[in-house]
Amino acid sequence: MKPPIDPAAVFAAGRLIALPTETVYGLAAPIDRPDLIARVFKLKGRPATNPLIVHVGSLDQARSCVREWPDLAQRLADHFWPGPLTLVLPKAVTVSDVITAGQPTVALRMPDHPVALRLLQTSPAPLVAPSANLFTRLSPTRADDVRAVFDAADVEVVDGGPCRVGIESTIIGLDPDERTVSWLRPGLISQDAIRAVLPTDWHLQSGAASSVRESGQQAPGQMREHYRPDKPLTVVVSRRSPAEIFALPDDTEPGCTILALPDDPTIAARQLYQSLRQAERAGPDQIGLVLPPEYLDDPAWEGVVNRLRKAASVWRDEARSGGG
Ligand code: AMP
Ligand code: MG
Repeated sequence: MKPPIDPAAVFAAGRLIALPTETVYGLAAPIDRPDLIARVFKLKGRPATNPLIVHVGSLDQARSCVREWPDLAQRLADHFWPGPLTLVLPKAVTVSDVITAGQPTVALRMPDHPVALRLLQTSPAPLVAPSANLFTRLSPTRADDVRAVFDAADVEVVDGGPCRVGIESTIIGLDPDERTVSWLRPGLISQDAIRAVLPTDWHLQSGAASSVRESGQQAPGQMREHYRPDKPLTVVVSRRSPAEIFALPDDTEPGCTILALPDDPTIAARQLYQSLRQAERAGPDQIGLVLPPEYLDDPAWEGVVNRLRKAASVWRDEARSGGG
């Protein structure tokens, strides 16, 4: 497939590329262009403490970014790449500290989108590609979401259609010495799916590795303020119906847009940010959503529940507080 644009020409002109991937649209710059990487942080309003994921179009590009490529990385790549799984590994010296926010590790992913892969394969270097949105706001899952935020003079938007996965990648950290995989951010690929391919002498632990915790750093991606719609979202964990929870006592129109979650977590993820965007545009100035209690303990729902927790201004768990 011919790439829709020549990435080298766009970058040479000092512009960034909004790259369609299967998760969300990314704001891309080559890893060897510090000026453009600085623009990624600036245009997004992203703090310098938040590291960027490096996107690769081949295993050679991935290997060029790390100190060593452990057998487990190869095994995970064989199973899940191209796809929505990001691997965090000790970085090569050639990957700048600006990209990794000063950490000794780099996050790598090969996206499963034909346009992204083609662009990466014709790009002179791997590309950083954080979500193409303003920091803490909803991630873009359509080209128009990106166009609504960034100026065409700054960003060449490549339209690859709506994103199939719809939420950001699963992120895991690999520590070959401790034979530990850290669960850093849930996504479509579940803990069960990762466990199924781990060799028996490796184990999966939740949260950042002890080395990160001891450094006193906040584990990246685990900040609470993230993915917020511009109207307050109330999530109620309950078996009661949305009408019962959000209706006003005098039977007038509910003062909020009620979002319904599809029963299938894959479809729920795909639609999540677009439904929140629609609710942002609707009349009521509040958004409400009811979450069945069993989703909280279901690994298949972990990614969606995680994004809802970050998007919600109010989180009320009726099941745990004894009500409903
Ligand atoms: P995104 O905002 O989707 O581009 O994802 C960036 C996230 O990737 C960060 O907020 C971190 O959670 C994670 N990340 C990137 N680099 C690293 C790293 N070196 N170590 C741990 N997590 C990382
Ligand atoms: Mg993001």
